[in-house]
Amino acid sequence: MSTHVLLDRLDGVRSRGPGSWMAKCPAHDDRSPSLSIRETSDGATLVYCFGGCSLHEVVGAVGLQIKDLFPANNNYHSKSKQPQISARDLLILITYRVTLLWIAAEDLAAGKVLSERDQATIRKEYAEIGRMLEVANGF
Ligand SMILES: [Zn+2]
Repeated sequence: MSTHVLLDRLDGVRSRGPGSWMAKCPAHDDRSPSLSIRETSDGATLVYCFGGCSLHEVVGAVGLQIKDLFPANNNYHSKSKQPQISARDLLILITYRVTLLWIAAEDLAAGKVLSERDQATIRKEYAEIGRMLEVANGF
């Protein structure tokens, strides 16, 4: 799926440079755009809501599935029970989330107290990584 299929379903889309956009998140009441969208060189779409919505919530809110974020070429072909996302793409998505957990860990190490909202975000990100494992296992 082209990133533009997703962008066409979002409000308040603005470009932040080649292959990078911000938009209003469809999964929560988003006044200022807090959804980051990136298109990778191999045609995958990375989505992240800074408001704390999970990837499932975001793509579900616009009628898409996580597998729609990846190009439908040979690498992604699903033979019945095979994973529909390559291990590399899962790693990209997990790295994205681990980076956020790392930022939170740095804040904690610096003696900052995480807000309730940040704590909720971290719980969701942790759950999301579990979801990705299910995807990798072909459900
Ligand atoms: Zn959101």
